Amino acid sequence: MGCRSGVFLLVLAGAAACGPEQPGRSAWAPDADAQGHTAPTASTRDANARAGAALPLTDAQDFEAAERGLVARDPDVVVAAADGSPVWDTRAYAFQEGDAPESVHPSLWRQARLNNRHGLFQVTEGVYQVRGYDLSNMTLIEGATGWIVVDPLTARETAAAAFDLARRHLGERPVSAVIFTHSHIDHFGGIRGVLPGAAEGVPIVAPARFLEEATSENVLAGIAMSRRASFMYGRRLARSERGHVDSGLGKSPAFGSVGLVAPTRLVDRTPQEMEIDGVRFVFQYAPESEAPAELTFYLPDRKAFCGAEIVTHTMHNLYTLRGAKVRDALRWSGYIDEALDLFGEAEVVFASHHWPTWGNDRVRAYLKRQRDTYKFLHDQTLRLANAGYTPREIAEALALPESLRPHFANRGYYGTVRHNSKAVYQWYFGWYDGVPANLDPLPPRDAAVKYVAFMGGAAEVLRKAGESFEAGEYRWAATVLDHLVFAEPENAYARELLARAYEQLGYQAESGPWRDVYLSGAYELRHGLPEQSFSLAAAVELLERTPIERFLEAMATRIDASAAEGQELTLNFVFTDVDESYVLTLENAVLHHQRREPDPQANVTIRITQALLVRLFTGRAGARELVMSDELDIDGSRLDLLGFFRLLDRPDPDFAIVTP
Ligand SMILES: [Zn+2]
Repeated sequence: MGCRSGVFLLVLAGAAACGPEQPGRSAWAPDADAQGHTAPTASTRDANARAGAALPLTDAQDFEAAERGLVARDPDVVVAAADGSPVWDTRAYAFQEGDAPESVHPSLWRQARLNNRHGLFQVTEGVYQVRGYDLSNMTLIEGATGWIVVDPLTARETAAAAFDLARRHLGERPVSAVIFTHSHIDHFGGIRGVLPGAAEGVPIVAPARFLEEATSENVLAGIAMSRRASFMYGRRLARSERGHVDSGLGKSPAFGSVGLVAPTRLVDRTPQEMEIDGVRFVFQYAPESEAPAELTFYLPDRKAFCGAEIVTHTMHNLYTLRGAKVRDALRWSGYIDEALDLFGEAEVVFASHHWPTWGNDRVRAYLKRQRDTYKFLHDQTLRLANAGYTPREIAEALALPESLRPHFANRGYYGTVRHNSKAVYQWYFGWYDGVPANLDPLPPRDAAVKYVAFMGGAAEVLRKAGESFEAGEYRWAATVLDHLVFAEPENAYARELLARAYEQLGYQAESGPWRDVYLSGAYELRHGLPEQSFSLAAAVELLERTPIERFLEAMATRIDASAAEGQELTLNFVFTDVDESYVLTLENAVLHHQRREPDPQANVTIRITQALLVRLFTGRAGARELVMSDELDIDGSRLDLLGFFRLLDRPDPDFAIVTP
């Protein structure tokens, strides 16, 4: 009852006085944990109990699969970076044993426990996986001369630890080839952990366009995506029963140093046969599915299918909450159908996340259900859209059929029916739902001030929102209180009550990212913005392999339009180390670049190295340092160059999300 009375007191106090003298938080919630998270309410406890009762939670099949083939397991996996900062620590999740606590959706708890199993496992003869050393899995395939490493995790540090476990128990063998299944960083960033030196002579296999896609997502939209990812993965949350428990796909991404090695062999068609270190592979090229560049493969001699990230033990994201281009549900489903057709004789399917599925009947049933989950989302969203429903109505109406719904691999641990149906809508119709009132509404802050005034003022909103909270209507309470917080960001009562509504929504979420998003929202309402932003410094090798044009495109997105008004400039950029030159033109507050010989009429010519450009981009070199540096050569007006750098915005990577 502590929480009930806590909220009641909070609302009373808030209704009485919203002035500057607001009491400390501890007086409101004596049962809060160290990060301020309050207890699950009776509504949340009921909702979670009901959700658990509707699922076959005692089915042990996945737990058996997650343990099957265990070769070796260290008691704990603790990995630190060279500077001592933690990269991975399984001890943080030791609390995930037994039944679900009341503050965690029982189905997410189940998934969290499954993802908590770490170790070296045999998938089938000659195929091993190291799981639980990162968000993703590393797969090792025994070649004639060494290991074919599939997807070397996110970070050099975790990849090295995972590879070391394999070496200790399977013997010392070199890396004879590497396969990157797709262009997401948790599948290639740790390459230096398995190939620390020169990679010459080691074939690197990847889907066509891998390098472009691997390097583009992080540069143009990387700042906002990284900030949003911190919510999606609960970066600031404690690992605890009222904090982060799992991402649904695995525990959470490792934060270590990331690298990239360019592929030497590309997969660009289906089926594409290849012999790698004496092992026969049949590749499926699956672009524009879960990732823009992706492949799967089949090992015919082992009857083993690697589904990369197209088939996993969760409903995946058609839209990812960190923000990314939406994915094509129809193609995604189509690739699984094609795989069933081509590799339907498989006796085991394994992937770059989660545990394998064995036995041809189970493999086929699993693949069909995965295929139909994405196709159902696609088809039924369009059916309802064509009947005039708008995205929020579709999301509310849609549920997987009973033949798919209770199967754990189709549950929304990562993606959800709600946000994935919106992604399908977005794919076809974009952001506008067709309702004129939604064409050009007031921006959030302006609207919030008016909503609060129309609803009778802050005290009245707080009182009514408190009633909604008491009634367990957390979605509605969050909507209303979000207006109040945007209207009065300093109103501590509003912030605390909104934090509590978010918290209960988080506790009831089956999706790891939904839980983390809500709990991160609650956390930032109570603790404010991060003090130390996510640094790009650990990604230097990745950025050094990023084509220069990506940085020039990113530079154009940093032009401060009002400062650039009326300015015209031409700059030559000559990259001496890679022998590329670009002419940059600024006019109409727009920066263009063309790859061509330097323009003799330019205001200034800069001879620079790509490495220095990366330092500039990662904030390890400032404009002044650059202009004064003798590492580069400047011809023409240094003043114009300084003026140009002054036009570039330096975005705050820790922008506000839950407040204006
Ligand atoms: Zn992944």
